[in-house]
Amino acid sequence: MIDETHHPDLRSWVDSANEPGTDFPIQNLPLGTVRRDPSEAGTVAVAIGNDVMLLDVAVRLGLLSGPAREAAAACADGFINPLMALGPGPRRALRAGLVNALRADSDTGRRARSHASELLVTASDVEMLVPAAIGDYSDFYASIEHAKNLGSMFRPDNPLLPNYKYVPIGYHGRASSIVASGTGIVRPSGQTKAETDAAPSFGPTKRLDYELEVGVFVGPGNSLSEPIPIAQAEERMFGLCLVNDWSARDVQGWEYQPLGPFLAKNFATSVSPWVVTMDALEPFRAPAFRRADGDPAPLPYLSSPANETAGGVDIQLEVWLRSAKMRAAKTPAYRLSHVRFTQMYWTLAQLVTHHASNGCNLNPGDLLASGTVSGAAKDSRGCMQELTWRGTEPITLPSGEQRRFLEDGDEVIMRGFCERDGCARIGFGECRGTVLPAIASAGHIT
Ligand code: MN
Repeated sequence: MIDETHHPDLRSWVDSANEPGTDFPIQNLPLGTVRRDPSEAGTVAVAIGNDVMLLDVAVRLGLLSGPAREAAAACADGFINPLMALGPGPRRALRAGLVNALRADSDTGRRARSHASELLVTASDVEMLVPAAIGDYSDFYASIEHAKNLGSMFRPDNPLLPNYKYVPIGYHGRASSIVASGTGIVRPSGQTKAETDAAPSFGPTKRLDYELEVGVFVGPGNSLSEPIPIAQAEERMFGLCLVNDWSARDVQGWEYQPLGPFLAKNFATSVSPWVVTMDALEPFRAPAFRRADGDPAPLPYLSSPANETAGGVDIQLEVWLRSAKMRAAKTPAYRLSHVRFTQMYWTLAQLVTHHASNGCNLNPGDLLASGTVSGAAKDSRGCMQELTWRGTEPITLPSGEQRRFLEDGDEVIMRGFCERDGCARIGFGECRGTVLPAIASAGHIT
């Protein structure tokens, strides 16, 4: 479904959208929710260069017509969810309409330009909110390298459990603590027990970590007890964002058996503010992960020729860190790792289909995260637990500071972008969060 909206020669009348290296050229057009003032409700907007275009203003000015106008009108209450529910047809119509309104060489574009002061707001002048009303959130474990690395730390004799190559492993996360990029992350407290301790104790985590992940927002979803065939999984996806699944490793190590992650993960999850639609990602689709010889084929319900040939998405992902000391010295952030999303053992379509395979209903705006994205190379590991090998191999920052896990004041910045010859580069923007000191619990105040 590559069409004229993907053409690399398209130019926008918004000059910053034509700059090489921008995350938000006219070929991207991700959707998000913004507000200019904390007293305002959110309104749906589109990222274009260094600006955001307000969708309700575009509708009011008559810059969108027909199905594009109807699709935009679905967001009138300030939420993207109703548009997500409509599926790929209206979403593509909106994309075509937005391209028409933002391109430099169309009549609509020229008319839009004359209303630029109403239509556009500088991105740095708006607050970005969580992009959708997320009803439910699940997190997977789809990187086999991450699973092998973590498994070998927790279970040296048995790193990869026998179900891994058959079941896309996941757990139900917590939607209430999903926060927008930029929100401070208070160091959580919890129960931990070092191997050498006789009994657990309660206090601030000493092993705070991030996890680099990609999230998929569900589009139309499915009714209760009605599975999503793999052939239909792509049309049930709306778009992707970056996810930081903050994790307290010492809490996790003590609590995770037998039921899996709980309080080690649900204190905060950050998401990037822009949802890059599946349409914008079309030029960057890639084959599914090539399984090693001898690995079992996915069971039939998780298998299709289309998923084999184009179930992957070639996103380049990066994690950067900037400590408080680096910020004070104006030292730029330091890149900890980089990895390609094509390394994932399971595709997004397989995650969607598996999640619904028992009849579990997914709703528009639900978020399914991939799990930590790690590759085989050491500098492609997507969390600190892996990078420092459980804290045994500390990282040295440009400031000379060492890190085994995150310290208060550390800012974690995740970035993602897609590049391919003959295509316009598109990006996800950033997912940021700074670690704030723990809050003393009532029982600890003296
Ligand atoms: Mn995770």
